Amino acid sequence: MNERLRKRIKERLEAERGTIYKDAPVRVTLAYPNTYAVAMASLGFQVVYRMFNAEPEFACERAFLEDAEYVRKGELPTYESGRRAGDCHIFGISVAFELDLVNIVRLLEAAGLEPFRDRRDAQDPVVIIGGPLTSSNPHPLRPFADVILIGDGEETVPALAEAWRNASSKTEFLDLIEGLPGVFLPDREERDPRWATARVDCLPVYSQIITPNTELPSMFLIEVERGCPRPCTFCLARVMYGPTRNADPERVLAVVPDGVEKVGLIGAALSDYPHVKYVGHKLLERGVKLAVSSIRADRVDHELAWILKEGGLRTFTIAADGPSQRLRELLKKQIKLEHLYKAARIARDLKFKGLKLYQMIGLPTETDDDITEMIEFTKELAEITPVALGISPFVPKRHTPHFNDRFAGIRVIEARLKRIQKELRKLRPRVEVRNTSAKWAWIEAVIARGGPEVGRAAYLLKDRESFSAWKTALREVGWHDPRTLPDPPEETERLELRVV
Ligand code: SF4
Repeated sequence: MNERLRKRIKERLEAERGTIYKDAPVRVTLAYPNTYAVAMASLGFQVVYRMFNAEPEFACERAFLEDAEYVRKGELPTYESGRRAGDCHIFGISVAFELDLVNIVRLLEAAGLEPFRDRRDAQDPVVIIGGPLTSSNPHPLRPFADVILIGDGEETVPALAEAWRNASSKTEFLDLIEGLPGVFLPDREERDPRWATARVDCLPVYSQIITPNTELPSMFLIEVERGCPRPCTFCLARVMYGPTRNADPERVLAVVPDGVEKVGLIGAALSDYPHVKYVGHKLLERGVKLAVSSIRADRVDHELAWILKEGGLRTFTIAADGPSQRLRELLKKQIKLEHLYKAARIARDLKFKGLKLYQMIGLPTETDDDITEMIEFTKELAEITPVALGISPFVPKRHTPHFNDRFAGIRVIEARLKRIQKELRKLRPRVEVRNTSAKWAWIEAVIARGGPEVGRAAYLLKDRESFSAWKTALREVGWHDPRTLPDPPEETERLELRVV
């Protein structure tokens, strides 16, 4: 193995707590199509690692695409034993983000596996792909996966392991799992299956490995609620995770190991978790630092904010999502300006550094007036407390009421971003604006509603991925989706000619 890579793996393993070293007849590689730091901040990745290793006769080791730059194709190593990642019975990939689609192709090649399913044979490992992207849209993954897992891994992993133990061949394994909840066999079926939903007593789920080398350094992650009862129309959480399930607070507290410095509480709408304050107070009593993703602005009060401040949070994070009241009502977000002002006042009173506010633009029916409203209330919020405004272009998703909505168009989004930047720049440092790219949001939108042809386009990009290369690759595979054209409707005719 390359000396620099050997050193990197050794250092990372030495810094980990909770690594599982196991030898067993069934070798599983659990691979991530991005960096170690991103993978180890994924609770789903960590839980599947623990679950495979908990199965009799199974040993699961991790591999990360990031390391492929140090090795020849086919020689990507696993961390625990250093064996070749492709030298396994089951090659599992956990994928969270649309924009990791090309990385899946690269990962399979780095592991020495043929990316296309129909070019692999009975002797090759079974390639299983799971993770949040499969619940959102599994179809671009169809060319690559033998099995796609959709929904809660707590249900599917034990069922797969049981089937493997009872099967004498790859085909027999697929026969045994066909039709199970959450199991999608792309060479046998066209439609997504019923999603797997775990029982409430699967919660809380929590980190297996704690390491300083992640996006969430030395943090013990713990999922205290799954699903969301709120009606926000754009959000997959309310449909993806099935019914809302809340963990028993005493079980939450019991699984946090002694000596942990920082706990990250995870939940789709964490501030709706009925025991969030109780758990927060108890963890503070143990001297633990806290982290949370975001808090609903209409649930913020002084007590919750105080817990988070005491837990070490410096910035208060909330999402308005819609730039105007009209659009927040359209999205059923149920957040009003008064909630945002109240959160800003609490952030000021408790001496947080400021408010981090998430917004989407490019929403259906959005006009310049909606953007004007957002600019105005951001200015007013900034008079109360500094605001870090995070703006993302809206990407319509499957399984939501926006499935058939148009992508707003790169030019429209870029023009609105430019205007927002220009008008709020004057208020620096009281307002800082960060935004994600309109061009990459368009690619995300293509993948979010695309089919197998989008996966085939991703294959063409494995050696060089760029915005213009995506457009060329999509044209080559015959992709056509009038809802997701890169530019506004008046451009439709010309662009349709280009993409057909
Ligand atoms: S945006 Fe938040 S509150 Fe709304 S459905 Fe999604 S997770 Fe729930």
